Amino acid sequence: MSNELVTEVSAEALSHKLAHARSLPWFRALYPRILEVQELADLNRLPVLAVEDESGGGLFTALGEASHRAPGGGLTLTSGGSTGNRKQISHSWAFNAAIVPLGARMFGATDERPEVAINCLTAGEMQGAFQYASAIVRHIGARLLPAGSQMGVQRVAELIQTHKADALICTPSFAAALFNHERVGAVQLCSLKWLYYIGEPCSKTLRDQLARDWPMLNIRSLGYSSTETGPIGFQCAHLEHGSYHLHADAMLLEVVDPLTLQAVAEEETGEFLLTPLLPDHVPLLRYRIGDRGRILRTVTKCACGSSMPVLTLEGRVETSIKLGGALITQSQVLHVLRQLLPQLHATDVQVQIERQPEGARIRLVLAEDILTADTQSVIEDALQVEGQASALLRLPGLLGLEVKRLARQEFETTLAGKTPFFVTFEQTPAPS
Ligand SMILES: [Zn+2]
Repeated sequence: MSNELVTEVSAEALSHKLAHARSLPWFRALYPRILEVQELADLNRLPVLAVEDESGGGLFTALGEASHRAPGGGLTLTSGGSTGNRKQISHSWAFNAAIVPLGARMFGATDERPEVAINCLTAGEMQGAFQYASAIVRHIGARLLPAGSQMGVQRVAELIQTHKADALICTPSFAAALFNHERVGAVQLCSLKWLYYIGEPCSKTLRDQLARDWPMLNIRSLGYSSTETGPIGFQCAHLEHGSYHLHADAMLLEVVDPLTLQAVAEEETGEFLLTPLLPDHVPLLRYRIGDRGRILRTVTKCACGSSMPVLTLEGRVETSIKLGGALITQSQVLHVLRQLLPQLHATDVQVQIERQPEGARIRLVLAEDILTADTQSVIEDALQVEGQASALLRLPGLLGLEVKRLARQEFETTLAGKTPFFVTFEQTPAPS
């Protein structure tokens, strides 16, 4: 597919997606500004969507519930959300069918054709990867051994040997357990030519170890995808670990600054926002997956023949801020404060940083309903105790740290109406 064709296909798919969204009364109630969005350039008028956000992920919950009610049934899967707050979303059967050829794109022009694949992903448990991988195996016309992850590595090894399986589909953790098991050896696994992993990143340590101990084995990702969005990218045989061709005809990917949510410059690193373009029960617009990375659009045609842009993953987004060359993260701040206030939530705190030419002052703002006036001084004193708060107090260039109680509505907000965890105030230089 040429670049021009991809652009045309994705523009048309986006316009259908937006028309679908505008036609749903419940969607208009959730996202009133959808009426102002006609094309790609208007998309940033919509709020970002997250499984969990400052408002408890209300938008996502409403979309999930609407997806369960949609006619025609579908596949209901557990999506992210912290323990105790798991959420589900249902994808239409048409969506489930449409994602399979996308997943099989990784086999596109190569002569890599597995004949017998053993699927050792988690089966059931409200997870979709097992079915997805099985459907890809069927799509490429290979034989499938549906082992699952619970059979035990020795039985899996026996199956691989008996059936001369040449492809193993599993998580990197499962691969580590199988290839390092003391009672599993080369005799049983020597038919394997390909390891396709999905579900978590494959660490360099594991890749290096497998390359050393199992030199005949090719290790590739089965794809970059998520429960909520479906397939995002595929790794052809010519791409490095962590790089994928974006399914640009089926997925819109915005790369934004995690704090301002404004688009970053072309090819710069930022946070990913995803808008799946395949028809589905509910429109998922600007979904915040929590990954960071960049898109290389100017890469000339890849050796695999695909002209789809290449995205590179660069890790997870964590709210953080740089101070005097050091990085403070949200979890670091919460860890310190939770030693004093165990019940503290991220939304109870705002870290206000006032930058000055010679350093910075930090104000820890805590919601007044969780911090009584009496405990305020206790916290201030405790933060001065070495060890308690060294993570914060030993930051280079820190001029001072104070604790302040404020009503929640007095926390600083962004133009978009969000209450960020970190806020900085720059001291404007005096005119000379
Ligand atoms: Zn390629």
